[in-house]
Amino acid sequence: YLKSQQKGCEEVGIEFQLEQMAKETTEQELIRFIEEKNKDERISGIILQMPLPPQINAERVQAVIDPAKDVEGVNPENMGMLVYGKPKLAPCTALSVMELIKSTGTSIKGLQVTVVGHSSIVGKPLALLLLSSPFESATTTVCHIATRDLASHTRKADILIVAVGKAGLIKGEMIKEDAIVIDVGVNQVEGKIVGDVVFEEAKEKASLITPVPGGVGPVTTAMLLRNTIQAWKIGLGILVGSEQSKLTSL
Ligand code: NAP
Repeated sequence: YLKSQQKGCEEVGIEFQLEQMAKETTEQELIRFIEEKNKDERISGIILQMPLPPQINAERVQAVIDPAKDVEGVNPENMGMLVYGKPKLAPCTALSVMELIKSTGTSIKGLQVTVVGHSSIVGKPLALLLLSSPFESATTTVCHIATRDLASHTRKADILIVAVGKAGLIKGEMIKEDAIVIDVGVNQVEGKIVGDVVFEEAKEKASLITPVPGGVGPVTTAMLLRNTIQAWKIGLGILVGSEQSKLTSL
């Protein structure tokens, strides 16, 4: 992901700076470092790369990133604005899924969308984006580890989105005929990268399906670049409310 961020930035002309810190860095040191970057007017976007060493709590550090420079949409203020349907900067993977749906030309209005996985960074923000339009929202079901009879929820989905991280979780028989299937999962199986959906079975049922690799991932990077340009505009005061909400809605 880091390499694709760097390459994407170079391609569109955004200067990308990688700041590597020692693995013994304390949380306070990292927070102070980010606070300095918040003040630096030359910087439009800040990304906290994962994974972090165990002495650092990611949520506490994400909360320090200036919401106007939070190009991954992980700061609690940006997360909170999702509830109102007006995020300044939303999480890139959730935006990527919305953009992929948009690219099909299908309106989500009233459709049954099932999201499998409810993490703070993918499943939950995605569910909020699917519900963010007052008149055009999808009927959204969110499944997770405690969901009983997962297949009963996936089988009714006009659009099925899977973000779990378990290869082979979604089999062909769990997919509605002609559904749109978006596989967010990234798993390594016998040296190969695969998604959460059994692609060969699912493609026989789905009308459209994203591959892994090469589906959600590259669009996520594109959303990061879009967020960065958006953050730059916010910094310059040239992006106003209505333009912001247009970017995150379908
Ligand atoms: P995560 O934080 O581990 O969350 C996984 C979610 O799946 C959790 O909500 C978990 O529920 C749920 N889950 C686990 N087992 C389940 C089951 N058997 N049935 C239904 N739900 C189940 O992972 P994440 O960060 O959201 O990422 C999910 C996957 O997407 C990973 O493979 C990751 O690598 C990939 N990903 C891809 C991109 C991209 O751009 N392509 C970006 C981000 C993530 P509980 O919390 O209740 O256990």
